[in-house]
Amino acid sequence: MSTIEDKKNNNGQNGQSNKPAIDVKQISLAQKSSYDKLIANNAQWVEKRIGEDPEYFKNLAKGQSPEVLWIGCSDSRVPANEVTGTKPGEVFVHRNIANVCNHSDMNMLSVLDYAVNVLKVKHVIVAGHYGCGGVAAALTNKQFGIIDNWLRHIKDVYRLHSHELDRITDETQKVNRLVELNVSEQVYNLCKTSIVQNAWMERHDLEVHGWVIDLGSGLVKDLKVTSSSPHNLGYVYELNGVDAMAAH
Ligand SMILES: [Zn+2]
Repeated sequence: MSTIEDKKNNNGQNGQSNKPAIDVKQISLAQKSSYDKLIANNAQWVEKRIGEDPEYFKNLAKGQSPEVLWIGCSDSRVPANEVTGTKPGEVFVHRNIANVCNHSDMNMLSVLDYAVNVLKVKHVIVAGHYGCGGVAAALTNKQFGIIDNWLRHIKDVYRLHSHELDRITDETQKVNRLVELNVSEQVYNLCKTSIVQNAWMERHDLEVHGWVIDLGSGLVKDLKVTSSSPHNLGYVYELNGVDAMAAH
C-alpha cells in the first residue's frame, strides 16, 4: 500500500512534477505541533493546579455541585468558564450552534433535566453573543448544508419579530438584534418546558436568564428577561392542569 509520502516521491521520479502541490511534511508537522501543544498544555495545567493545591484533583474527582447551567453557542470564542471567571465544577455546560433551546432536542432536554432535577442548579443562563455566525447565516437565503435544518429555529424567531427586524437597514445591527431576540425566545422556550415548570412547582430558587456576550469588549449584557415562575407564559404554555377550554 503506497503512502502519501511514496506518492510524493514518485511524482518526482516520474518527472510529472518535482514539486508536490501540497507539502505533506509541513502539514503533518503543523498538525502534530498544534495537537502536541494540547497535551503539553494539559501537563502544565495539572502541574499548576497541584502546585496551588496538592489535593485539587482528589477533591475535583469527588463530584460536582454546580449552581449554574450555561446554554451557550458552540463558537470557540465564548467558553463558559473563561467568560464568567469560574472554575471546573462550577458551571454545567451545554453548547450548540446559536444557543438554540428546542423542546424536541433530546440532548438539550437531557442536560436541562439533569441540571434542574439532579444537580438542582439555581440559574439557567442562555448565553448568545453578538456577531453570531449561526444567527447571521439564518438571516440569509443561502444553503449551508444540514445546518439549514437547525437554523430554521432561528429563522422562525426572525419571522416572529420581522416587523421590528425589517426596519433595521444596517446588516450588523440586524444580526445583533436577532441575537438578542433569539436569546429571549430561547429563555421563553426553556420556561415552557415541563422540566422547568415542574421544578417551579417544587422550589422557588430556579431562575432562567438571557445574556449576550459582546466579543468586542468581553462584557456580558443581561437582557433582563429573567423568569422565575410560569405565571406570565401566556397562551396555552402554562402547564398547571387547569382545563383552559372548560374555563371559557
Ligand atoms: Zn454563535
